[in-house]
Amino acid sequence: MPSSLLEPEDRVLSTMEKDGSRRWLDPKVSKGSFLTTRRAFAYFLIVVFTVTPYIRFNDKPLVLLDILHRKFILFGFTFLPTDTILLALTLVTILVGIFLLTALFGRVWCGWACPQTVYMEFVYRPIERLFEGTSGKGGKPRKPVAGWRRVARYVVFLLVSMYLAHTFLAYFVGVENLAKWITGSPFDHPVAFLLMAAVTGLMMFDFGFFREQTCIIACPYGRLQSALLDRKSLIVSYDKTRGEPRGKKRKSDDGEGEQAGDCVDCHLCVDTCPTGIDIRDGLQMECIGCAQCIDACAPVMAKLGRDAGLIRYSTQAAMDGEPSRLLRPRVVVYPAIMLVLLTALTVLLSVKKTADVVLLRNLGNPFTVMDDGQVSNSMRIKITNRREMAVAYTVQSASDVVSRIELAENPLAIDAGDSRTEGVLIVLPRSAFSKGVCDITLHVSDGAGFEQEIPCRLLGPAGSGKPSGGKAAGTGTQTNTPQGGSL
Ligand code: SF4
Ligand code: SF4
Repeated sequence: MPSSLLEPEDRVLSTMEKDGSRRWLDPKVSKGSFLTTRRAFAYFLIVVFTVTPYIRFNDKPLVLLDILHRKFILFGFTFLPTDTILLALTLVTILVGIFLLTALFGRVWCGWACPQTVYMEFVYRPIERLFEGTSGKGGKPRKPVAGWRRVARYVVFLLVSMYLAHTFLAYFVGVENLAKWITGSPFDHPVAFLLMAAVTGLMMFDFGFFREQTCIIACPYGRLQSALLDRKSLIVSYDKTRGEPRGKKRKSDDGEGEQAGDCVDCHLCVDTCPTGIDIRDGLQMECIGCAQCIDACAPVMAKLGRDAGLIRYSTQAAMDGEPSRLLRPRVVVYPAIMLVLLTALTVLLSVKKTADVVLLRNLGNPFTVMDDGQVSNSMRIKITNRREMAVAYTVQSASDVVSRIELAENPLAIDAGDSRTEGVLIVLPRSAFSKGVCDITLHVSDGAGFEQEIPCRLLGPAGSGKPSGGKAAGTGTQTNTPQGGSL
């Protein structure tokens, strides 16, 4: 009879002992073709990460995520706060792309390209091994090292973290600002300095202390694994049929002796696992698909003269002897969704103009009858300059009926990527109104190719009686409805 239904297993998590204490992992490096390829790819990614903030395209940074000014530049396209739909479409497309990638290749992102894995396995752990040595044979704990080695390790960790933090922030503030921050005194820019210190501290915490727990506990992607994978997704799998029963002895041909599968239970695949799991227990949420267990097992099989691939990239279906099909509903549906999203994105980008213009009705009186008998409507115009240079926008009436348009400044000068909102007074004769309304069109241009016509409904007195002078009570309702187009 079980003593308690809630009795914990020997190890609650691969990084936590039964008593709740941390189980520190010291994965053994297993050399092999996958490690070589992953290492080369990781170094390539590190170079890309480092140089991208310095690359300019069409006189703009290739990538700039300026959260402070709500401006995002991605591969030549500038996204402003008015581009919510474009940004949302881009993000949803990326999300569906990740779903597709996972359905096809499992957690290939985690094992091969995620910054957490790339920096942990190919930067921080190698530094640690350089100063403190590698784990003993069979994954035995390292011998205790001299204190100075540990201090030196953390000093190098700190320098690397500072470098990464600066590079990371360059994506958000641009390399020019970063250079100013680095060369100036911290007292000249205390907020930036504190931000840099905080990001460096977070990196130290992550790569020095929290480590693989980011993948196991904190990252939501791993948790979604069961929903994103299916039995035909490519994962790192242990061939149970071949490997079990595990043991030291080989199956005897004459039927005598203890029967054993191909797995000799050497534990190398477990000792090398960066998340501390045993792949022989089947697909687990902690598996990041790094293929280190494949590299660990391959030489064992070769040495014993057994077939390679006891642990290999395969699918759950193939392992159970079912036919593997590349085409299945989710592999068709995800690309179809992506195609629709990408088409919408392309169409929206192709019709995008170099400025956004929005006309808003002011709060308060819908109209005013002026001393000279004319009627004025008070509006606000908001223009966003999407060009990479300052531009002056002229606001005119395209309708003959309008007497005049008053703006604080016309043309309206606006810096690159900036917006301005100004009051506009539109004056026209009382006779222009029929049943209290008059439809006109405003014309906005920048003299450099941008032109936009904005239809606008003005409000006025319902009757055509003589003006009484002063402000008349409006007959229209107060509204703040945008009347211009956001292009
Ligand atoms: S490395 Fe291979 S042989 Fe050794 S325990 Fe793992 S699966 Fe078995
Ligand atoms: S089980 Fe294998 S593939 Fe999965 S994380 Fe561990 S070593 Fe990497």
